[in-house]
Amino acid sequence: MTRVKGRRTGRRAPAHGRPPIARPPTKKARVEIVEVALRDGLQNEAAIVSLEDRVKIAEQLIIAGVKRLELGAFVRADRVPQMAGTKELVKRVYQDLGLSSSKQSAVCPSALVPNLRGFEEAMQTPIGEIAVFTAASESFAKANINCSIEESFERFIPVIKAAKQKGLRVRGYLSTCFGCPYEGEVDEKKVVELASRLLRMGCFEISIGDTIGVATPKQVISLFRRLKRKIPIRRLAGHFHDTRGTALANIFAAHGLGVRVFDSSLGGLGGCPYAPSASGNVSTEDVVYMFHGMGVETGIDLRKLVELSRLLGGMVGKLLQSRTGQAGLPKVSRLNS
Ligand code: MG
Repeated sequence: MTRVKGRRTGRRAPAHGRPPIARPPTKKARVEIVEVALRDGLQNEAAIVSLEDRVKIAEQLIIAGVKRLELGAFVRADRVPQMAGTKELVKRVYQDLGLSSSKQSAVCPSALVPNLRGFEEAMQTPIGEIAVFTAASESFAKANINCSIEESFERFIPVIKAAKQKGLRVRGYLSTCFGCPYEGEVDEKKVVELASRLLRMGCFEISIGDTIGVATPKQVISLFRRLKRKIPIRRLAGHFHDTRGTALANIFAAHGLGVRVFDSSLGGLGGCPYAPSASGNVSTEDVVYMFHGMGVETGIDLRKLVELSRLLGGMVGKLLQSRTGQAGLPKVSRLNS
């Protein structure tokens, strides 16, 4: 290691003494966006969007370049009416676009499966990926999924086992990783322990959620550093909410640590159930806008995304809280693709 002007650079200084010139990256910088509007977004909205409209949004998202997206949840329609018809929706999208259920498929739709009953319903569709859900705080798990964290893991075991036998990918959601609406602080060690457990159980990826939008970049860096010591970074995703306006800063911080998968919602759909007038999920348009401006590819057509965000706003009957969606695209060509 060579010191240049007292700073550790990690690189050998060139003979002529000038600072080394950064080499252009050999591979295009890229992140994966997991679009969650049709599940996480809609289930937190009062409006019921018709099956036809949800099929339209899903298909247009995929046509716009979205490769990973939640289509819905295999839950009881009497309990979560926003998710009614998920089975038909999945079948329609796969059929209309000629998608494959294979793990190697370029487009990987997903759906939430809370239990074996939901899994059996999922198996009547060509879905290639499912997601399971738990929390890092006991009170939140009790309030949200009506069981303890331990009981939620007991429910996963047969679901994950069955999914593996059928060759499905399983994603794990861990919510309240940065704070709980009931307990306040959440212990980082507990988040690492639960995320590691989800990975050991067979989840290919763990989405680390800031469910109530309290995280700030310092906390994001601290937690992901800890997670990285136990879990390969490629297995981790960031799920940030913009409740207090810190989501993009948190995504930027996590990206700096090597996180390359981020969850976001078209139009920022999905309010925060613990702060009724505030926003929830970070908007996909804002995340894509930021990354494209940084020279990081998402593979998503931002112009189409903005059009779709407005269409979705009409379907739920409100102006969605996406900055880019509301402001439109600037007249700077490199930011418009
Ligand atoms: Mg969310």
